[in-house]
Parts: sequence; structure tokens; C-alpha cells
Amino acid sequence: CPRRAPLCPSSPLVRRGSRMAAHLRRPCDAALGCRRVAARPAFLAASPSACGSRRAFGTAAEEAAESRWQRYAELSRTAGSVRHGTVNRRYVPPLGPMALPTADPVDNSTGQMSDKHLKDEWSESEIADAVKDNVVMTWGNNASRSAMPVIVRGEGIYLYDAAGKEYMDMTSQAVCANMGYTVDEAVRSAVMKQMTDLAYMYPGLGMVQIRARLCNLLAEITPADINGFLFPLGGSEANEGAIRIARRYTGKFKIMSAMRSYHGGSSGPLAATGDFRNRFAGDQPGFVKIFQPHALRFSTGATDEQAAQQALKMLEEQIIAEGSETIAAILLETIVGAGGVFLHPLGYLEGVRALCDKYNILLILDEVMCGFWRTGPLFAFSHFRGVVPDIVTSAKGLTSSFLPLGMIGLRQKIKDHFETNALGWGATYANHPVLLACAYEVVKKNCQNRLQDKVARIEDIMLEEIDDLIKNHRCVLQGRVIGAFGCLDLVNAQGEPLNFLGQDLPPEALAVKRSMAEHGLFGLFRSPLMHITPPLIITEKELRVMFQRISRVLGDLDVMLEAK
Ligand code: PLP
Repeated sequence: CPRRAPLCPSSPLVRRGSRMAAHLRRPCDAALGCRRVAARPAFLAASPSACGSRRAFGTAAEEAAESRWQRYAELSRTAGSVRHGTVNRRYVPPLGPMALPTADPVDNSTGQMSDKHLKDEWSESEIADAVKDNVVMTWGNNASRSAMPVIVRGEGIYLYDAAGKEYMDMTSQAVCANMGYTVDEAVRSAVMKQMTDLAYMYPGLGMVQIRARLCNLLAEITPADINGFLFPLGGSEANEGAIRIARRYTGKFKIMSAMRSYHGGSSGPLAATGDFRNRFAGDQPGFVKIFQPHALRFSTGATDEQAAQQALKMLEEQIIAEGSETIAAILLETIVGAGGVFLHPLGYLEGVRALCDKYNILLILDEVMCGFWRTGPLFAFSHFRGVVPDIVTSAKGLTSSFLPLGMIGLRQKIKDHFETNALGWGATYANHPVLLACAYEVVKKNCQNRLQDKVARIEDIMLEEIDDLIKNHRCVLQGRVIGAFGCLDLVNAQGEPLNFLGQDLPPEALAVKRSMAEHGLFGLFRSPLMHITPPLIITEKELRVMFQRISRVLGDLDVMLEAK
């Protein structure tokens, strides 16, 4: 009996019929363990030797022990020993009147809604005041909030501010508004129908048809045996879930991820991130950074083969040093997006897949930005011979950002594992039916319209136009394109990058931002990287006009550099 104590009925002490008082023979309460033998002084019940002691006592020994314990109980009392009350008395702090600490009397009663919220329209100044007084920005400080244009409407690839000024979206905002701003009628009515039929279902309580249908559609169109799907609310959450799943599947902890990568703003993905935002993550155990072939200030080789080889050799040495038995997964962006649209040298990603197989490590490919036809095929990993990730994550283009949604896709072996093992990840809004209805229509429509063919045509034009920009603008050091995913590296008068990501912006970068707005361009310019990632619905004519405008912006920067 693990509960056995000298005072348990099953204790030798008791079984031998000692003269112990009957109340001490009460059985231990299973729930409370031996502590329940509290009729004795607490110190006896708590004694470490109380449970499990099997020492046999004779009656005389029992009596000696009993009397010793009793003696101790008489001596050691907060009120002082029984016979000499001032001895062994413990200090009892005086409980005199004491002022309780008080907080400043802040009014925490619920406020009242003002009448302006009943108006359909607000004046410009009402909006400006609300922005200044109540809006908190993400990532950076709040200073920029009032300088941002107030956008009131979107149509096609265009956005319009409150004054009616038109902007062309040259980056699909954060490479996510892939279908532009005119929401297809089928998407709208699917969303409205789901809102009407059933606006919400907690994912662990009931199945909804749309969940089954979207999972099935994605299993059909996703390459290889990526057959299991679940849907968090965005890219970070998708990577957070993927990391948890990899750790639970492998029973290992470390996640290796690359310098110059971005995986999301929540804790795990930010710790895995290899750009300046990683510094906001704080120290988190279990994340190991690797170099990928796209070094900023050095070359990994003059040819694709050398670059891939060097990076893979470094990676293998690191895997051996870390211990493959500690590494759950390697997490990479299939095509690095925010870092500058890096195209891996041929053989690199293929080699990473092979190393993962060799060392029994999972490969997670993050296609949050490059998935859903951004680079041509549905997923960018189809560009790489034989590469299939064990887990693929995505978001953004899945719903074209009409509504927030992320995706985690699992290969059959991982899905099978969780038939009988708890997945260990979930959220109230995971698999939200209204969001799934949106994704289902967007994906279906893009399959029907063969979006990959459209992106192939965009790629041809982008290659030609970016080639011209590199040749004709002093401020452009180099540029990259795959599909509708392009990026230029801008340099200053000395031919150096305008700045490093995350540093304060130099005057040249601020001038580029101003010039973009002047020339009717809207987009995410993260100096020194100028992403060119238009909505995939862009027409050839619009694309040509967009490049003319970009050329004007770069021309303005060239003039500025000449003057230096
Ligand atoms: N992974 C990649 C490659 C991304 O580009 C992003 C966002 O840009 C994320 C993850 C994070 O996605 P989200 O902002 O939806 O959380």
C-alpha cells in the first residue's frame, strides 16, 4: 500500500494491536493520502518516513516513540512550550491596524457610445482623430499611422483613397490580395450562404460539410500524399501548428530554420524567423538557425552546383553537431518571400529533402507567401525535382485575403499517426466554416480558370520588364522573378544597399515611398527590397503600365543618386 504509514490500519504499527487511540486507526483517505491522518500533530503525518515505512516495532518501542513524539509536540508550539510558556515561543507579528495599499481611483465603469457611431459617414477629421487617439500600429511604432493613406475602396487591382486618388497595387499588399479587390460573386454568395446556414461551429464539436469538401479538394489538387488538412487563422498560426505537430510526431524538439527567412509574428514562428523581426521574439529554446545559399555579404559559390553543395555541406555538419536525434524538423520557405524572393540554386532544396530523409528529420515547407499559384504552380515546391514536404503550410492566397485563413497540410504518414495520437493543437476559430466557404470558392475558381497558365504569362512579362529595370536604372543592383513573384535590390550612390532590413530608413528610401504614392503605386516597400508582386488578376496592359510607373519611381531615385 503506497499510502501505508505507521498510522494506516495496514501499517505494522497498527496491525499489531498497539494501544493507539481508535481515532488514529482511521483508514487513510485515498484522495488525501496519508496527510489525512491529521488527528496527530501535522509534523507526524508529514514526516517523510511516514509512508511506506515497514520497520517493525515492539510494544515498548512503540511506546517510546509515542512518548518522544508527544514530548516534542509539547515543546514545539507557537504559543511556547506547555510547561514553560516563554520557551520555544515563535515570533508572531503584531496584527495592528495597517493601511491597505490602494490603487489610483481610475474610473473603470463602462463608457457610453456616442451618437457619431450611429452615423453612416464620418468626417475626415473624425477619422483622423480616431486614428491618432485610438489606433495602435503593428510591428513599428505608432508614428506612421497618420501618414498612411485612408483607403476607402478597392476594385480590380486598384485602391482608392478618401480623396478619390487611384493607386495600383504593385505588391498585392503583403503578397496576399492575390485576386485583387473585386470579390467574385460566387465567393460572396458562398460566404453569405454559410453565414446564413451556419455561421460558426467549434471544430471539436461538430463537422460541417464545407470542412469536408475543402479538405477533400485540397487533397485532390495538392501533390503527392499530402492528404490531411486543417485550417488555422493565418500564416503564423499555421507554422505554430506545424512546429507543434512535427515535435509531437517525432518526439524531438529542435526546429532548424534559415537566416533571411520569415515565418510569422507569433512566438514559435518568430523564433524560427531569420530576419530582423527575430529580435522581437526573445530567447526561445529549441530553434537553430542555418545559413541558406542566399548570403547577404558573401558568396557560397560561383555556380549553382557550388552554392548548393556548400550550403548542404554546412547543413549536414550542423545536423551532425546538433544531433539528428534532437531535431524534429527543418522549416524553410520554399521560395523566400519577404527576404527578397530568393530562388534556391538548383539542387539545394532537393539536397535538403535528401538530408531530412537521411537523418530522419521532417521537412516543413512554408508556402504562406509563395503558395496558391504565386510562383506558377499551386505550390512552389513543385518547381523542385522530387521535393515533397512532410508538412506544408500556407495562408494568404488561400482566400486571397478576403477573409483570414491559414492551412496546414500533412502527408499520409503524419495524418495516420494522429489517428490514434492526440494532435495537441487547436483554436476556437480553427476551421471556421465561413472562412472555409470563402477558401473553397477561391480555390475552385482558380482551378477552373487554370490560374497557373495566367501566372506563366505574367512571368514572361515580369522577366522582360525587370530585365529592363536592372539595365536602365543605376539604383537597381539586381532583381529576381519567378511567376508573379519579383523583387529588386535598391542601392545608394555608393552602390551599397539603401539600408539593411530593420534599420532606420535613409532619405533615399523615404523618397521612394513618396514617389510611389505620387506615381499612383501602392505596395509594401521594405527598403532596400522593392517587391513586385501584383495581384494575379492583373491584365497584360495593366502590368505594362505598372512597370512604367515603377520605372518613373526608380528614375526619381536615380536623379537623387546623381545629385549626391
Ligand atoms: N510565413 C511566410 C513565408 C510569410 O511571408 C508570412 C507573412 O508574410 C507568414 C509566414 C506569416 O503569416 P501571417 O502574417 O498570416 O501570420
